[in-house]
Amino acid sequence: MPKPLTDQEKRKQISVRGLAGVENVSDLKTNFNRHLHFTLVKDRNVATKRDYYFALANTVRDHLVGRWIRTQQHYYEKDPKKIVNGWQVEEADDWLRYGNPWEKARPEYMRPVHFYGRVEHTPEGVKWVDTQVVLALPYDTPVPGYRNNVVNTMRLWSAKAPCDFNLKDFNVGGYIQAVLDRNLAENISRVLYPNDNFFEGKELRLKQEYFVVAATLQDIVRRFKSSKFGSTEVVRVDLSTLPDKVAIQLNDTHPALAIPELMRILLDTEHQTWEKAWDIVTRTCAYTNHTVLPEALERWPIDLFQNLLPRHLEIIFEINRRHLERIANLYPGDHDRLRRMSLVEEGDQKKINMAHLCIVGSHAVNGVARIHSDIIKATLFKDFYEVDPHKFQNKTNGITPRRWLVMCNPGLAEVIAERIGEDYIRDLGQLKNLLEFVDDDSLIRDIAKVKQENKLKFSAYLEEHYKVKINPNSMFDVQVKRIHEYKRQLLNCLHIITLYNRIKKEPNKNWTPRTIMIGGKAAPGYHTAKLIIRLITAVGDIVNHDEVVGDRLKVIFLENYKVTLAEKIIPASDLSEQISTAGTEASGTGNMKFMLNGALTIGTMDGANVEMAEEAGEENLFIFGMRVDDVDAMDKSGYDAMEYYNRIPELKLAMDQIAGGYFSPDQHDLFKDIVNMLLHHDRFKVFADYEAYIKCQDKVSALYKNPKEWTKMVIHNIAGCGKFSSDRTISQYAREIWGMEPSLERIPAPDDPRQ
Ligand SMILES: *Cc1c(COP(=O)(O)O)cnc(C)c1O
Repeated sequence: MPKPLTDQEKRKQISVRGLAGVENVSDLKTNFNRHLHFTLVKDRNVATKRDYYFALANTVRDHLVGRWIRTQQHYYEKDPKKIVNGWQVEEADDWLRYGNPWEKARPEYMRPVHFYGRVEHTPEGVKWVDTQVVLALPYDTPVPGYRNNVVNTMRLWSAKAPCDFNLKDFNVGGYIQAVLDRNLAENISRVLYPNDNFFEGKELRLKQEYFVVAATLQDIVRRFKSSKFGSTEVVRVDLSTLPDKVAIQLNDTHPALAIPELMRILLDTEHQTWEKAWDIVTRTCAYTNHTVLPEALERWPIDLFQNLLPRHLEIIFEINRRHLERIANLYPGDHDRLRRMSLVEEGDQKKINMAHLCIVGSHAVNGVARIHSDIIKATLFKDFYEVDPHKFQNKTNGITPRRWLVMCNPGLAEVIAERIGEDYIRDLGQLKNLLEFVDDDSLIRDIAKVKQENKLKFSAYLEEHYKVKINPNSMFDVQVKRIHEYKRQLLNCLHIITLYNRIKKEPNKNWTPRTIMIGGKAAPGYHTAKLIIRLITAVGDIVNHDEVVGDRLKVIFLENYKVTLAEKIIPASDLSEQISTAGTEASGTGNMKFMLNGALTIGTMDGANVEMAEEAGEENLFIFGMRVDDVDAMDKSGYDAMEYYNRIPELKLAMDQIAGGYFSPDQHDLFKDIVNMLLHHDRFKVFADYEAYIKCQDKVSALYKNPKEWTKMVIHNIAGCGKFSSDRTISQYAREIWGMEPSLERIPAPDDPRQ
């Protein structure tokens, strides 16, 4: 009689039988051995029990992968739309559900980051003690250059609770709490705050900012020491040459804590004098400002700082004391100037002005378009410009022509290459050679043909993924960017309503057909931005179902706007809407993407639009509306929205329709907050530019009827794009701020014999 099977043997039989039909036992063994060899890099001589376990787990997982992907696809396809009943609805984006194949964890470079605690001043120096520690685990992503054999590293950090996290709680029986607190620690790197141009003073955000800064600075110092001495063992190294090897470019004020953190390392760990440390810090750091909107500027309450980063607060106070001493010497008795320039803002709640900290702690400060750099010198940072004019620079933003032309619009890239060769891809200034062909009928034809192909392709995409049919022969009039009052999607919306009313009034006129597409995300807590989306979808509902209008006007709101959608819609666009109130858009980069892809711009003299008009010729853009000086003058004289409303009949009609429920028949007062804002407290002066905008749009419609002239203007724009390559931007940062010259050495390919 056969011996009865043990439980383990039974499970083994069942599991092998369970796999029958999928693969046989010998395939299973082969795959197990393959994983042991290739995945775990072990053979049977050295494999541990854990290696066998992982090899088996991987073998089994292979069987799940097909079903796993299919299930996720199914969920994705069945997903309810983001936009629900015309409103933006957020959903979690679990983008790591499939893992991230590009990143490589580097646990060997894990670093501790300290929070909370208190400061002890001892004869041996300053000590930051009784801190809570969170570990920073680095993940490296390769960043390849364009056909130059260069692969740089982007190092990101993930928060990890240490093994002994809150062990003292554990000892007193707080086991559950200790485990829960581990999660709190790891929350630091779990979420990205979704605001655009808005400061939210949450402790978790300050923790995130310090976490990234502290991890990165430890990494910088470790790498600097090992590059100098081939070892991290050297405890005391002279860091005075740090600025010769390292540049820290503060991308907005979010990493501003790098300044007090580097001071802390130099003072408390490296035992440098204040003067020496400050010299190293200011020669290493530089600051890029990205906005002048006051609600976007970081001002952290001192109480938060005192609790979370007590040593950094002490250092900031000392930076401020010395800074104000200098200002007081330059301007004796000017107390108001000291108040304006202080790093500490007085008030009910004292706050640290992070932009002021960045300017004082940096050797260079820049804006991101010429007009913006001029504005910060004249207004936001005027006092600082007066004492240190040499610090202030401009670095106009740029975009990469690889992604934003060659990859997303291969048809256009090819048409250009046929005329001027391929070198323009690395040297975008060469696009000006296209001007030679501006009257060449074959180029005009080819450019128009590529645009039409892109429009057909995008129409098919919209039909498949958004279930809407559009007229590919209409003008594609596109405004895609974050939804924000200063970007004035509402001005676009008023134009839509005006066009609609005109078509209804004179249905037999030869109107230029338009498909107006607006896309972008609102910050989840920004009520007005969400209501703007609701208004656009409501207007679309009325306009798109009006039989009198037909396919001469369609309004589409593009939900879930992101880079992958930008890469599809921008090559298909005819008209690019860049209509912010002059003085509010620091640069914009969307404007440049459209220009490079053969769309014409309707825009204000704001941000990089100014330089685009300069490069392409102002006559080749549709520029309208108030200049910065006009806006400033109006701020002094007072902006009276009612005056425009009462004087301009088409504006009054559009507003009365919005206010009266024409676009929201089920809820007449749905848009009352927008109406009230536009009429009574509109910071961005939408009505003041309405007339000029509508007139300019009329010119756009007229030119669109003349495809040849339109396309010639497009060629002038493409030819004028050279300045807006990020290659130019980065080389200016390198030469003019970081003090570097490009290396002429070429890195050999891995299979190159010279090495
Ligand atoms: C380029 C880009 C932006 C920036 O657009 P602006 O018009 O400059 O505000 C925003 N979102 C996405 C997805 C982009 O590709």
